[in-house]
Amino acid sequence: MFYADYHTHSDFSSDSDTPMEENIKRAMSIGLKEIAVTDHIDFDYPDPEFPFLFDYKPYSDEIERLRKIYGEKITIAKGVEIGIQPHVIGSINKFVENNQFDFIIASTHVVQDGYDLCVNDFFEGKTKDEAYCQYFEEVLHNVENYDFFNVYGHIDFINRYGNYTDKTIDYSRFRYLTDKILSALIEKQKGIEINTSGYRYGAGGPHPGFALIKRYRELGGKIITVGSDTHKPEHLAYKFDEAYRMLKEAGFDKIAVFRDRKPVYIKLF
Ligand SMILES: [Zn+2]
Ligand SMILES: [Zn+2]
Repeated sequence: MFYADYHTHSDFSSDSDTPMEENIKRAMSIGLKEIAVTDHIDFDYPDPEFPFLFDYKPYSDEIERLRKIYGEKITIAKGVEIGIQPHVIGSINKFVENNQFDFIIASTHVVQDGYDLCVNDFFEGKTKDEAYCQYFEEVLHNVENYDFFNVYGHIDFINRYGNYTDKTIDYSRFRYLTDKILSALIEKQKGIEINTSGYRYGAGGPHPGFALIKRYRELGGKIITVGSDTHKPEHLAYKFDEAYRMLKEAGFDKIAVFRDRKPVYIKLF
């Protein structure tokens, strides 16, 4: 049985039509003990069709309403997935300071000069190595310069995008960067998530891949959440059997859940 899905989107995110309640009901029906609602906040997102912003009050009210109905059967963590870009860190800090969250995922969705990774412009004229290298450099910069988060989201999901025939990451080529990223996270007592959406998007595994999950552990990392990054109820806990297997293989026996942005460890194995 799976314990918690810690990365879920509802219709408070511009790219999902799913009412939060549908995700909660589905989570209970598959036996989850906990779910984190983590809708998008991406200040200055370059695509005006997807503003990726929500008002805190109705968001929080909806979570409170659902807690009253379902709270005895499932714990609902009030989370958010925040898109980090260096020039919006001031706005993010204000947003996070003024609003209560149990759990915060920091993600890099947009890279320097406003390139949305979902749009292929970023990759034009770059070799795969150049593009991946720039992405990891920016993640490192964000990790070093931003503090108010609990886990970094889908840390290697650059392999989901671009027009390269082979999008796989040769981790040995970027280890000088990914080791710095993981070490910086560990030093700041931050975690990583295992984001299983990679299976749905054809990456052939979760984000990050096993090599980075294992490396995070080797370097002393302890904080791991598991999330499907679902935008539809049917994808809740998708491929969690694989994620749990990888956790075990990498030497983890616990996952983290969060209360008021503090980790609580749940023993899995
Ligand atoms: Zn994301
Ligand atoms: Zn997400």
